Amino acid sequence: MSDQKTLTSLAEEFGTPLYVYNRKAIEQAWQEFAQALEGHRHLICYAVKANSNLAILNILARLGSGFDIVSEGELKRVLAAGGEPGKIVFSGVGKSTREMAAALEAGIRCFNVESDSELERLAEVAAAHGVVAPVSLRINPDVDAMTHPYISTGLKENKFGIGMAHAMDTYRRGASLASLNIKGIDCHIGSQLTNLEPYADAIALLIDMVDRLDGEGIHLSHVDIGGGQGIAYTSEESHLNIASWADCVVQAIGDRDLEILVEPGRYIVGQAGVLLTRVEYLKSNEDRHFAVVDAAMNDLIRPALYSAWQGIEEVETLERESKIYDVVGPICESADFLGKQRELAIAQNDLLCVRSSGAYASVMSSNYNTRARAAEVMVSGDDATLVRAREDIDALFANEFMLP
Ligand SMILES: *Cc1c(COP(=O)(O)O)cnc(C)c1O
Repeated sequence: MSDQKTLTSLAEEFGTPLYVYNRKAIEQAWQEFAQALEGHRHLICYAVKANSNLAILNILARLGSGFDIVSEGELKRVLAAGGEPGKIVFSGVGKSTREMAAALEAGIRCFNVESDSELERLAEVAAAHGVVAPVSLRINPDVDAMTHPYISTGLKENKFGIGMAHAMDTYRRGASLASLNIKGIDCHIGSQLTNLEPYADAIALLIDMVDRLDGEGIHLSHVDIGGGQGIAYTSEESHLNIASWADCVVQAIGDRDLEILVEPGRYIVGQAGVLLTRVEYLKSNEDRHFAVVDAAMNDLIRPALYSAWQGIEEVETLERESKIYDVVGPICESADFLGKQRELAIAQNDLLCVRSSGAYASVMSSNYNTRARAAEVMVSGDDATLVRAREDIDALFANEFMLP
């Protein structure tokens, strides 16, 4: 089956808007990390927040992947999808007591602790449960990831991590608490990094701290370099080279006995998904042509939120007049666009494909304008399986109540 035929028939079978994922692409991206880090002790912890569909988590669990979670909800998803608790790391600045307890009960691999107050709370929760919590400290290395400000996380001004100047004290405090087991160090400097330099800077700072801790008798067993590996959204961009990235990390570690953890999200699923949408109307005003499509910012918020650019293509090449269109959705917001100023040869009812929609797309969808969230389909070889049903409109307000 050709790509275009598959997409056309999937749109007919499952309706639009529709997310379509490709199993092979997910597996290949994961294998790039596995191959690049072969020969060094490592654990790939897929960042669940990039796309948390159970089918995707299950595909990765079958490969033996670990997972990076940021909530109790994600913990439950990973366990439901067959992920191993011992391969889960828990990130995020705001872990609640309840979330800590759930993760301790599940027996996760490590908590990535982001503040002194979180460290104290985790120690209390672990003690109350009669267990010892495995801990890594997330360091804020204050390096510029050179990416969009909303997805830059490793600068002093960001809410993430513990500052370099203070982290040694936090380690000393952690090491003194009986209900904590200090295991590692981590950072995550941002998302959509296509440049090696920020990684090189960050890992050097982390390794320097590992050595200083070692000197004080605090021995770490892993270093977690975070995620952020960038993909090519446009044909002019290039994705981060994973082999070079791995070389850079392995070199920095040298002969130290440290396991490498990595938390890629976007790189694993970003290029493995597309969003299919149908053209409802074509309209023009004085100086613009608009293609009004049936997908909207509630389905794909990246263009509105990050000014992100994603490729938009006709699924089938048909005899049409080509024009420059703003591709917009039906939502009552001027920010509701999927792409601006795109050359397309389309007519009403044609099918469009929004590329690179596997990451931070369906997971960020909402019910704004009381729109049902789109269905999701996984293509595996010649099979296509519905992996998330389209939401039912009545269910959208089933949990709301009128006053008596
Ligand atoms: C979001 C996030 C990731 C994944 O980022 P990507 O850019 O999708 O690779 C990894 N680690 C942490 C702590 C995160 O918050």
